[in-house]
Amino acid sequence: MRIDIITVLPELLESPLNHSIVKRAKEKKLVEINIINLRDFTTDKYKSVDDYAFGGGAGMVMMIEPVYKAIEKLKSERNYDEIIYTSPDGEKFSQSMANQLSMKNNIIILAGHYKGVDQRIRDYLITREISIGDYVLSGGELPAAAITDAIVRLIPGAISDEQSALSDSFQDDLLAPPVFTRPSDFRGWKVPDILLSGNTGEIDKWRHEQAVERTSRLRPDLTGED
Ligand code: SAM
Repeated sequence: MRIDIITVLPELLESPLNHSIVKRAKEKKLVEINIINLRDFTTDKYKSVDDYAFGGGAGMVMMIEPVYKAIEKLKSERNYDEIIYTSPDGEKFSQSMANQLSMKNNIIILAGHYKGVDQRIRDYLITREISIGDYVLSGGELPAAAITDAIVRLIPGAISDEQSALSDSFQDDLLAPPVFTRPSDFRGWKVPDILLSGNTGEIDKWRHEQAVERTSRLRPDLTGED
């Protein structure tokens, strides 16, 4: 899989995408992640990529031409399954969306900035708009990193114990059960006996019951009880 992220702030993406599972997935060649600096696609001597909004008002707008050139260059090199724009008014990002996207071959993510990108880019080039929540961040870099991380950890082989990703919250509309590690007794705070029993059948059953109970208590919307 290949993910190309177009941004005006490449530095913001370096650290989140160069550690842990994402780093290992890149090393194992399961994913190639390219950070594209939008300023490389401007002919302006100041490398500006923003301009005033038509009609006036506060805030600058990402210009159409550098974004168009960056996307067209990528598209001339390969076919893309999705060209995503991160936006607070997009579809709310979810685990099922991450699952779908992890099965694609090539994805572009355009990280917005300023007041956002010229609407014509959204109308003519973007295939999907994704929000990571009902709040406004300064730029699309953190959303792009969050989306990329959620996708990459689902690529088969990215996590050594594949069960680990499959048993995470939301994979089956259930929250994950609680987890514990050593010591089994910390100052009287004890791990549930069942987890120390060695009875894998009973442990699986207990975990499922815990997942159902937590989901019903914390996120009844996931079970349709809301
Ligand atoms: N004027 C825009 C609005 O009100 O919808 C917000 C612009 S925001 C300051 C700059 C950029 O950050 C957006 O274009 C988008 O790419 C990104 N962004 C901010 N919040 C986001 C969110 N919750 N989800 C996805 N992207 C977001």
